[in-house]
Amino acid sequence: MPDTGFNPEQQEYLKGFMAGVEARRGSLAPASEGTAPADALRAAQDRAIAAGGKLVPQEQAKREKHPLDRWDELTARAAAGRFPKPIEDFVGRYHGLFYVGPAQDAFMCRLRIPGGILSAWQLRGIADIAEDCAGGYADVTTRANLQYREIPAAKGPEVVMRLGDIGLLPRGTGADNIRNITASPTAGIDAAELIDTRPLVRALHHHILHSRDLFGLPRKFNISLSGGGAVEVLQETNDIALTAIEMAEGIRFRLNLGGITGHRDFARETGAAIAPEDVVPVCDAILRVFIAEGCRTDRARARLKYVLDRMGVEGFLGAVEDRLGRPLPRLAATNPPVMPAKHGHVGLHAQRQPGLFYLGVTTPLGRLTTAQLRGLADLAERHGSGTIRLTVWQNLLISDIPEASIPAIQSGLTRLGLGWQASAIRGGLVACTGNAGCKFAAANTKRHAAELADFLEPRIALDAPVNIHLTGCHHSCAQHYIADIGLLGAKVERGEDMIEGYDLHVGGGSGPEQRIGRLVRKQVAHDELGPVVLSLLQAWQRGRSEAESFHLW
Ligand code: SF4
Repeated sequence: MPDTGFNPEQQEYLKGFMAGVEARRGSLAPASEGTAPADALRAAQDRAIAAGGKLVPQEQAKREKHPLDRWDELTARAAAGRFPKPIEDFVGRYHGLFYVGPAQDAFMCRLRIPGGILSAWQLRGIADIAEDCAGGYADVTTRANLQYREIPAAKGPEVVMRLGDIGLLPRGTGADNIRNITASPTAGIDAAELIDTRPLVRALHHHILHSRDLFGLPRKFNISLSGGGAVEVLQETNDIALTAIEMAEGIRFRLNLGGITGHRDFARETGAAIAPEDVVPVCDAILRVFIAEGCRTDRARARLKYVLDRMGVEGFLGAVEDRLGRPLPRLAATNPPVMPAKHGHVGLHAQRQPGLFYLGVTTPLGRLTTAQLRGLADLAERHGSGTIRLTVWQNLLISDIPEASIPAIQSGLTRLGLGWQASAIRGGLVACTGNAGCKFAAANTKRHAAELADFLEPRIALDAPVNIHLTGCHHSCAQHYIADIGLLGAKVERGEDMIEGYDLHVGGGSGPEQRIGRLVRKQVAHDELGPVVLSLLQAWQRGRSEAESFHLW
């Protein structure tokens, strides 16, 4: 060792230290092509190019510089009061910010709330950000998440940083990343559940946030876990759908893959049974096979479904097992999964814990003002444990309410303008953002959904819950194909004008009623929607037998 000015004892220590560093250097080296972060993405792109393909602009952007390394560009633009141009916007979405012009000359910010479960103090923080930096409200999404709208250019990075301050960093909630993980909202409080999914969701959420090489997928990716219980999470509409089942060996998750109902496909059965402790490594292996095999040259065919179409389920599973280095156990004969009741997310329900209840709250199509957000936080804290659980039905639950507090919390919700009573129509009424905030929408879905419910409720008394979903375009954020009545935005000719309307689909379903709805009528004008849907519901009530649900009609 050259003379460094250290005494012999210090030099010995340094030699040992350097030897340790050398030893660790070996363990950090990639074991094979594709295991190092940049290599996996670049190798997949190189293969696409070598096969004669041309990378789409989004792939080029990822190739030039990792979008997570472009935060400073985002903040510099914001400081100049500028919104991003299209490919810059793609990069910004890695940080949770979406430019939503021309529908709104503003950013939208999508949060990341694992399993949809929040604390009251976080909800207050969300309200403060909505008030200071956005439109003064937040929308509950169909991924049990929240979104801000009307964020001025200069406030975009501030929203992201303030969300980080309250533990809700929105990293990867847009672009080609893994979206908010959904899971049973009654986890840990549901008498019927097989497993409390909260620790698994938390572990998976942090694994994703801390695995930089999982932020370079071919396309967006959805993961959902159902632990059983009373509330549907629509897990079969996700790329990875994990459903708890009881086996002789204990509780396992049935693994289904490739759900994408906008492309009319539910997640298909793989026959694999995943032990709870294997959820994170198996999801990780699936994601890495998708990174290696997904299409980089055609955005329309870049989702997992198309990899499964090409490789077959067994071929894909084999590649996952190769990554894991071991076979996945297959399902033996099992009890079927516990299937929740329709609209189990609304109204008052007893918890697993004696004497405690949870209350399903209906929101006006997901929109919550800052006053309502703060009011909900106060009610959850005063009458419950301070826990708020968002659902994929654009609604929420307040949990851990002692029986004596039920009247107080119900009247508190009424004062806030929020509902808690079961409603056969509003309980399953879901609408995407629509053209008030999304450039793709052919119609104002939220307004038309509210008008439809106002029209129907005084005219028909349904004795069974019905799901009505309005979605503004083929992206199908409100999943019109799995609704009893699914409405897809369309332009309708009236005289010399084009007005807003919908294509009408009937008979979709999820869970035990899993089915893709069929198109029964095209181009119903928005102002004719009420009478058309009413006559459909009346005909269904007249024609069905006692036990028939809507999807069998
Ligand atoms: Fe926008 Fe289409 Fe999604 Fe509706 S379904 S929010 S219109 S992208």
